[in-house]
Amino acid sequence: MRPNEQLKAPNLIGGEWVEGKEKSFDVHSPYTGEVVGQATFPTAQQVADALSLAHEASVEWGAKPIKERTQVMFKFREILLRDIEKIAQVVSVENGKTIGESKAGIMKGVEVLEYALSLQNLDLGGRMEVSRGVQCEYRRIPLGVVASITPFNFPAMVPMWTIPIAITLGNSYVWKPSEKTPLTATLIGEALIEAGLPKGVLTILHGQKETVDGIIENEKVKAVGFVGSTKIAQLVYMKATSLGKRALCLGGAKNHIILLPDADADIAGQGIADSFTGCAGQRCMAASVLLAVGSVEKQIEAIKKRADETTICSKMGAIITKEQLEFLHEAIDQAVKEGATLLRDGRNDQAPDDLKGGYWLGPTILDNVKPGTHAAMTELFGPVISIIRCSNITEALEIENANPYGNAASVFTNNGAMAELVSNKAKAGMVGVNIGVPVPREPFSFGGIEDSKFGHGDITGVHSLDFWTQMKKITVKWEKQKDQNWMS
Ligand code: NAD
Repeated sequence: MRPNEQLKAPNLIGGEWVEGKEKSFDVHSPYTGEVVGQATFPTAQQVADALSLAHEASVEWGAKPIKERTQVMFKFREILLRDIEKIAQVVSVENGKTIGESKAGIMKGVEVLEYALSLQNLDLGGRMEVSRGVQCEYRRIPLGVVASITPFNFPAMVPMWTIPIAITLGNSYVWKPSEKTPLTATLIGEALIEAGLPKGVLTILHGQKETVDGIIENEKVKAVGFVGSTKIAQLVYMKATSLGKRALCLGGAKNHIILLPDADADIAGQGIADSFTGCAGQRCMAASVLLAVGSVEKQIEAIKKRADETTICSKMGAIITKEQLEFLHEAIDQAVKEGATLLRDGRNDQAPDDLKGGYWLGPTILDNVKPGTHAAMTELFGPVISIIRCSNITEALEIENANPYGNAASVFTNNGAMAELVSNKAKAGMVGVNIGVPVPREPFSFGGIEDSKFGHGDITGVHSLDFWTQMKKITVKWEKQKDQNWMS
């Protein structure tokens, strides 16, 4: 997985690709550890200038009828599908995913895009006669300039949760991709330009905290969407809201799966193993803790078998950085010191010679993990699952409920009453039954609760519409009325 030439991530400012003058930043491929490209970070002045141009562009874009805006998005979809191989290659090179995973992420983004395409046929406002000759009307109008700060783990999919919806609804969109995976942004930007998006409606600004602060603090930016770790989600949320802006900030996760003895071993084996190994565990929806209730040995055997078959470099991708790989090695050591047994140690899995410089860790299964220990409580963000043995479902639910996050939870069972109990009692925004990665498909919206989300509403689906727009209320009377009333 090596590009033929160094890839570039310039900034998109006022519709032009511009080198950032602050500094250049190397991008390493997790596959090999090699430098595969560079992003350039903008100065504070470049950020301010970009936001002014985004604001200018928002006036005309927001005034267009939604059906005209949607035409650009139809073309954008065609281009994404035409170029999916090329985009998936870049996602894999900079993020370490397998090509199949990169394509699946882009296709999930296309699904959100298709939802955005349908908005033109919805009544986004509404009107009724509220009293004789008097009508009230809702008009859903854009906010102007909105911003989105995205994480490394889905360089195409997470931005595509918001780009199609926020832009179709008439906003100018300012995107700050992760500095670890900035290269995919260039391809998405090029696709939108080719689709005919007017200059300035999409702005791409690279960088780290300084760029994010420059965006949030700028008065032109009215709303901030964020996806990333809980610590930064909370900081961004507090900063944006203290400046009077709306913010929706999705954070980290520690997803629990409850495994019951009546669960089908094949379904559980595949669903649970794929959940903690998919994208090398670097998904906010990845299984992290397995609450094994009673005797579930045959299901755990099936999970281990599937994990054994998930070979690194071909069926499983790499870890994002050397530092994160070291963190995972230390976390495994610490879990063992805290009493866990290693059912499978992914540190023994070997990459082929040409990929030895990459950041590889095979599927790792920790058994007999104690509640409250580091492995049980910390978001590890790697292909590691911690099995906690429980004697009954009440104990399992108590452990699940005690974790501070609330992104996803699942249960594997054939018992409908148990499935309903977990759906009701799990402290998670997204719950799965016999599904290891319970991502809602469009039009159902995506979002957690508790420490996995700061702000109101969800980031996709119908609940995202209120976030990216505001409602204007118009009250109209054209006829003189015989009787006076309070609406005269
Ligand atoms: P991160 O929090 O380190 O970075 C996210 C974004 O914030 C990046 O663009 C980064 O440049 C920026 N950033 C970093 N430090 C900042 C600071 N001090 N001030 C302002 N901005 C800052 O997250 P990551 O490591 O890129 O992504 C992994 C995390 O994202 C995991 O915790 C994962 O669970 C979470 N995630 C959550 C969801 C969700 O839907 N809840 C989805 C994907 C990823």
